Order: sequence, then C-alpha cells, then structure tokens
Amino acid sequence: MKFICIGRNYAEHAKELGNEVPDEPVIFMKPNSAYHQPSNPFYYPEFTNELHYECEIVVRISKNGKLIEEVNASRYYDSISVGIDFTARDIQTELKKKGLPWEKAKAWDGSAVIGKWQPISKEVDMKNIVFSLNKNGAVVQQGNSKDMIHHIDKIIAHVSRFFSLNIGDVIFTGTPAGVGECVVGDELEAFLMDESMLTLLVK
Ligand code: ZN
Repeated sequence: MKFICIGRNYAEHAKELGNEVPDEPVIFMKPNSAYHQPSNPFYYPEFTNELHYECEIVVRISKNGKLIEEVNASRYYDSISVGIDFTARDIQTELKKKGLPWEKAKAWDGSAVIGKWQPISKEVDMKNIVFSLNKNGAVVQQGNSKDMIHHIDKIIAHVSRFFSLNIGDVIFTGTPAGVGECVVGDELEAFLMDESMLTLLVK
C-alpha cells in the first residue's frame, strides 16, 4: 500500500504558505510504514519542533490501473474518508529552501492518519464534499472539494501516467487553508459532512 499525496490543491492554502498555484498536481508519496490508525496512541515526533496538521479528503483505490483516463477514473476508487497529512513544517521549510525532497518532513512513521472508510454511493457529488477539522473542540480547517484546483478524477489520471495504482492505495487530495501547529495534549477531530471520522490525541 502506498499513499499518494497532492500538494497545493487549494488556492487559499497555496497562498498561506507562500507557494504558487500549480498548473499540474504536485505529487509526493508516503510509504506503507507512514500509516497510523487513529485508535493507536500518536506520539509527537522527537525530530520536529513544528508539527502541523493538514486535514484532507482521502479516497481508496479499488481497482488496479495505469494510464487511467479522467473519464474512467471514478471507477478506480470506491471509498472516502478524511485523513491527516502530518508535516514536520520546520524540516519541510529547510528542505524547500535547499530544493531537496520532502520525505523527512512528510513521510515518516505515523504521518498518514486515516479515518474510518465510507463507501461512495452513486448519489454522492464528489465535487461538493464538505469536510473539517477541529482542534480542542474549535474548528481550525474547513474545506469543500469544489475548491480543489485539480479534482480527484484528474489527479488519478495524472498520477497513473507515472505510477501504477493498486488496490488499497490511498490518495490524499490536498489540504485547504488553515493548516497549523499542534502540540502535546491537543485533540484533533476530523469530519466528513457532519460525521466524525477520526479523533486523535497528540501524546
Ligand atoms: Zn497535505
């Protein structure tokens, strides 16, 4: 299983980190070992002093594929949830300055948290999905998939030009504005529409 993650997919978020809005999806990956189940204890990593949450819509690949056309892409995923793409922002800032890859900031053990999966029914409009993140009970991030620069089907078409997609792979579709720091003792709760999908205590 691999995690394919999209950076800068919401214009407001690109702006808040001082990045340009990209013409094509910005892609990075996390390995299988990055997976963290929210029911397990989550410990603040010792190598960072600036741990950021990024709440994102995630979809799960349900069919193997390569060179998938955008018009067919919706047949390749069947479940949706919200996830947290944890980022060591201090490390990422250093790496970005030097033009180096982001893995140490983004792909470490436990950095990919996924909520419970929900099957995608035919009635669901994938281009109008509301999601949000609370920190200690207050809303810190709110997004709607309609604001994605590159929609999920386009992401799948683009990604599968370079990487085979396999059953069980997960796509993190990018974070809206409002990313921020969390510290030991913070409780995060992510919602899809009005439903709580995950809670996580930072230990
Ligand atoms: Zn992200």
